[in-house]
Amino acid sequence: NKKVVFKNYITGFPKETDMELVTSDTVPLKVPEKSTAVLVKNLYLSCDPYMRFCMSKHEEPSFVPDFIPGSVITSFGVSKVVDSGHPDFSAGDLVWGLTGWEEYSLITNPESLSKIKYTDVPLSYYTGLLGMAGLTAYVGFYEICAPKKGEYVFVSAASGAVGQLVGQFAKLMGCYVVGSAGSDEKVNLLKNKFGFDEAFNYKKESDLNAALKRYFPDGIDIYFENVGGAMLDAVLMNMRIHGRIAACGMISQYNLEKPEGVHNLMYTFMKQIRIEGFLVSYYHHKYDEFVEKIMPDIREGRITYVEDTAEGLENAPAALIGLFKGLNVGKQLVVVAHE
Ligand code: NDP
Repeated sequence: NKKVVFKNYITGFPKETDMELVTSDTVPLKVPEKSTAVLVKNLYLSCDPYMRFCMSKHEEPSFVPDFIPGSVITSFGVSKVVDSGHPDFSAGDLVWGLTGWEEYSLITNPESLSKIKYTDVPLSYYTGLLGMAGLTAYVGFYEICAPKKGEYVFVSAASGAVGQLVGQFAKLMGCYVVGSAGSDEKVNLLKNKFGFDEAFNYKKESDLNAALKRYFPDGIDIYFENVGGAMLDAVLMNMRIHGRIAACGMISQYNLEKPEGVHNLMYTFMKQIRIEGFLVSYYHHKYDEFVEKIMPDIREGRITYVEDTAEGLENAPAALIGLFKGLNVGKQLVVVAHE
């Protein structure tokens, strides 16, 4: 059983050497007698920015549990059930949920797994589009942003797992949508694949405030926040009255020993802006509704999804770290085995 083990807690930027590929001769074949665990063969693993928080030691409980040094890395993934002691699962079922970065995982809390209902789309979609990232985009845009047709929407990290969907949802809603991303290749995808009205490479802009004024001369109604830092400050200066900011994530801050300050919060009262943070883990009850709503859009081509696929567990550490360097183009996942 090949696996990727977490070495030790870190500060600052994560490195591939913070994780280690370990091979053991034993492959689990059955769940232990009387156990309600589920034994799965892992097919696709998800790389997500929140995993950086699991790599640091927290004195107070964090919003996600810390990894345990010497133990296998855990993340969302798509797996096939090999053996089950749990009444809700049987051998052959396809599931998605929390699993380990290894070929086979014994999952002792199978309540975190969901059976995969639709298999007429790529199974890998359940690491992103039909998994955690998809639900994040759905809840974050429709509930937190409370969008209206014709509004002006800005999305940062717009070509990523969450951002590419937010932009497409906003277009389907009849909004004007602009995205920012960190390379010309990504900007091209935003405009020509995901249908954003405009997009720009924030790394080429010396003045983010001027860049936003160029695309939003009348201001921004909705900002879907994925990056934080200087971009948030620039956006605050360009919000319209009664604008909404969905604080989904702030990836520019995750590797800093001391997060940067936000300087322009004064605009929140001057423009009567609502900033609301949210965590997708509190919205599981919306998952079935989300899937039923989005499946026709996927099948009929109104929603498209770009994935960035790393092959093999040995490439998983680099894939995860690539998120923080912007190396991923679209949803980053790792193929462990094809079904
Ligand atoms: P992405 O697929 O967008 O990958 C991360 C991207 O972030 C990179 O490709 C890069 O894109 C960008 N990035 C990395 N470092 C920086 C930096 N220093 N400054 C600006 N941009 C940077 O990830 P996800 O779509 O999975 O996640 C997007 C955001 O949503 C993250 O902040 C994440 O933490 C958050 N999230 C929140 C959830 C919740 O429940 N609230 C659930 C899921 C995700 P580029 O090349 O464009 O810079």
